[in-house]
Amino acid sequence: MGGRESDLVLLNSDGIRCDGRKIDEPRRISIKAGVLNNANGSAYIEFGDNKILAGVFGPRDVHPKHQSDSNTGILRVRYHMQPYSVPERKRPAPSRREIEISKVIKEALLPAVILESFPRTAVDVYIEILQADGGSRCAALDVAAVALADAGIPMRDMVSACAAGKVADTIVLDINNEEDQAGQADMPIAVMPNSGQITLLQLDGILSTSEYKKCIETGLVGCKLVYELQKKALKERYFGGQGS
Ligand code: ADP
Repeated sequence: MGGRESDLVLLNSDGIRCDGRKIDEPRRISIKAGVLNNANGSAYIEFGDNKILAGVFGPRDVHPKHQSDSNTGILRVRYHMQPYSVPERKRPAPSRREIEISKVIKEALLPAVILESFPRTAVDVYIEILQADGGSRCAALDVAAVALADAGIPMRDMVSACAAGKVADTIVLDINNEEDQAGQADMPIAVMPNSGQITLLQLDGILSTSEYKKCIETGLVGCKLVYELQKKALKERYFGGQGS
């Protein structure tokens, strides 16, 4: 988020964004559940040009043992970018950014996952960013939540995420990479769609109070759209698309 000078037209006079979308239009999203044979649960998402895989193991024994909790299971999340996921080779070792994103994704998933029934165990979520295009933490959360459900981990609710932001003084849904780099604000949001509880809210940039409210409302509309696609992916996996 720099608001840096650029020849890129982020929003033209017809209200069309740099990738041809309207201000309230999300990128193309597709989700598939159950894509890996050797994980207990898995899913794949394409969210615009983001391509992300998630694999889940557990509940299983905790190693190292001292991390275990005799009262509840624990959730561990790793968000990892492949070296080829961004234009300049990313070093494979975890960066500060990846460690931070792993933490916020874990905290956004925790309220939805019922771990109390599995004391002394861990549920591990491995997220691989194959290709990044802005908004990868939201897309990663979306695919991780589907992979958790696919693994049969009991959940109180789904977790659905989407970003909104400010571009050319306008609040828009689902910020892409160019908008993230050259726009004015980026607000990733995650919600448990049935309870309405927000489990992730970050803001990079500056917004007025009214823009802040509009941004949350806009992001929540995106979360709702994502929720429908998450349900569809799970129905397709378990009922072959029936009942969708
Ligand atoms: P998010 O992907 O959730 O929007 P950031 O705002 O931190 O997270 O990053 C925005 C985008 O910047 C990423 O989606 C990715 O496209 C790009 N990006 C992140 N890390 C790197 C990197 N090491 N090299 C090049 N681009 C990167």
